[in-house]
Amino acid sequence: MAGVKTETCPICGVKIMTGIVGGDRVVFSAGPPGTRSKLYARVCRYVDKAGCINKQGGSGPIQPDDYYKPDAPRP
Ligand SMILES: [Zn+2]
Repeated sequence: MAGVKTETCPICGVKIMTGIVGGDRVVFSAGPPGTRSKLYARVCRYVDKAGCINKQGGSGPIQPDDYYKPDAPRP
């Protein structure tokens, strides 16, 4: 797909695909892809280092579903 780029957060090590219709896609090391909000809720909000490319999270507020659920089935 034209215009799609993959960025890797040097701090979190998570890949973010940008330029996708419907919003950026975050590729986690395990589990299905998610959104920037999900990445922020699970990883980046714990990171307090310069250089994180997802410090702002997604374009909207974090949804309850974005948080990691310990009882979710593991892949
Ligand atoms: Zn990050």
